Amino acid sequence: MKSKLTICIRHLHDKGHSPGTSTNYSFKDSSNQIWVTRSGIDKSEIREEDFILLDNDGQVAEGYKDIKPSAETEIHSVLYNLFPDIKVVLHSHSVFPIALTSLTKGNHLTFLGYEMQKGLRGINTHDGIVEIPIFDNSQDMAFFKHELTYRKMELNQGIFMIRKHGFYAWGENLFEAKRHLESFDYLCQCEWLILNK
Ligand SMILES: [Zn+2]
Repeated sequence: MKSKLTICIRHLHDKGHSPGTSTNYSFKDSSNQIWVTRSGIDKSEIREEDFILLDNDGQVAEGYKDIKPSAETEIHSVLYNLFPDIKVVLHSHSVFPIALTSLTKGNHLTFLGYEMQKGLRGINTHDGIVEIPIFDNSQDMAFFKHELTYRKMELNQGIFMIRKHGFYAWGENLFEAKRHLESFDYLCQCEWLILNK
């Protein structure tokens, strides 16, 4: 998984999902141990050695204490706790979702009638409304822990958005997590282009 995810992250960087040294990624290995990317690396050059092992409390494990994990590591830990079946968490700073949430005052992004809604978890028809939750941005990880737990019922599609920041996508394997990421990004591009036509 580490190798496949590393290749995937480089690909996502090339698609504009991780400008600068932004974003972070994680996976759960076959021993149910969680690995998360270290802080401050250029994702176009990410290597397998750039993943840090977490302990059962979501803290950096012994042997990795001198490496700084991503500032948003706790968001990953909360998602794995809320959804024990997931194996991969991806984070994106791509432009269109962020631009959309800059115009959206409410707590959801809404999509109606798109074929690509079927790329999200549990959606099997274009014929309906999909609502993706938006959380306000914060540097306080305790805020996200509280909000994600409180709004767990809104997280069924494998995506949540942080206003003017980016979004998280997850899945039971890399294939599913990447499908959620790409489908949501596509839907946001469509909405933005229609709003600004
Ligand atoms: Zn971020």
